[in-house]
Amino acid sequence: MSRIGRLPAQRIRTEAARLAVLGGAPPSGGGESGPAQVTAVTRALAAGAGGQVVASGGTTGRLKITTIAPDQGIPRLLRSWRPLHPGDVLLNLFRPGRLWGAHYFYNALATHCRASVLPMGPVAPDELAAWAPVFRDTGVNALAGAPSALADFADAVHATGTELPVDTVVWAGEPLTPARREVLARAFPGARLWGNYGSIETYVIATSAPDCTPDVLHLLPEQQLEYDAERTLLTRAGDGWPAPVVRYRLGDRVAPDSCPCGAADAFRVLGRADDRLKFHNTMIRLGDLLDVVRSAPGVTDAQLELTADPADPGALRAITVRYTGAESGAVADRVRAELLRRVYALTAIAAQHPESVRVEHAELLDRNTRTGKVHLWRHLARSTG
Ligand SMILES: [Zn+2]
Repeated sequence: MSRIGRLPAQRIRTEAARLAVLGGAPPSGGGESGPAQVTAVTRALAAGAGGQVVASGGTTGRLKITTIAPDQGIPRLLRSWRPLHPGDVLLNLFRPGRLWGAHYFYNALATHCRASVLPMGPVAPDELAAWAPVFRDTGVNALAGAPSALADFADAVHATGTELPVDTVVWAGEPLTPARREVLARAFPGARLWGNYGSIETYVIATSAPDCTPDVLHLLPEQQLEYDAERTLLTRAGDGWPAPVVRYRLGDRVAPDSCPCGAADAFRVLGRADDRLKFHNTMIRLGDLLDVVRSAPGVTDAQLELTADPADPGALRAITVRYTGAESGAVADRVRAELLRRVYALTAIAAQHPESVRVEHAELLDRNTRTGKVHLWRHLARSTG
């Protein structure tokens, strides 16, 4: 496997041995932290120090439980990344409750930066008029949220002509797509964008600053990512991490990159690791399809609806693209043509089975009820059956 960041082998062995004592040996025998070890290690650490219990996992399937260190790793993070300063007033749009940690993390981040915070949660468009005076009176100049929630908020601000002098936007949890960037720039011209990347089990792994190339992130120091085309393993060493891990398998694929800001260990998230599926005897990556659709003119965001093949439950019979943005037959036709042009395998499949690739406009995309994040795809047979 290739590497981004580099930890000495001896430090990794020492850390793996420490975690095995705290949480039991990992089942793989290869020194990898599995979800069970992460749960056990973080619970053992919390038995002495306390912590915040958080959960990841979809609305279906079992939740994975992690206990995050009481300081949430923020003092360590601030040595590398400090998006807020004294005098800033942060409007925290992350959804609270239900064991999703982001809302509490950004409240604490503001506090550690000696900024003020409004622990708000998402603001629906029809609530904006009532809350706008509060945001103005309190001096809100910074936002934190998942990109879909930030885009919704920015859309409502722009549509209602609300004056809100936002100069800082902190985003995490979803890709900041070009369409979402555009919506933010329209409502908050000149706002500086601070991003971070992580997972619920690990919290922040990498960060970006306003001068970074869009979508490029920098791995925080004292970590290592091992990666190949199918997997990404995170290892951390040293103190102060929100959750320690050795070769923990992340849900995404990554590739190294470079960034004009000059910071080290730049990389890009390519998409989810579990997005390879068989579609009429051909392997395709769902992330490739989403990339094409999201960059098509007239499209704001998109998700995929997947229909399994009854004859081969591991394969797909049909893919429906649901997109938000311009509601017009011409846009839908253009998106479909662009998909067939740029995703080579689809051309042959659609020629043989025209109904297997569909594009339709949607008013709203399906979201995770706990986090509010947009589902990238959903399996129709499984979610209805
Ligand atoms: Zn950079």
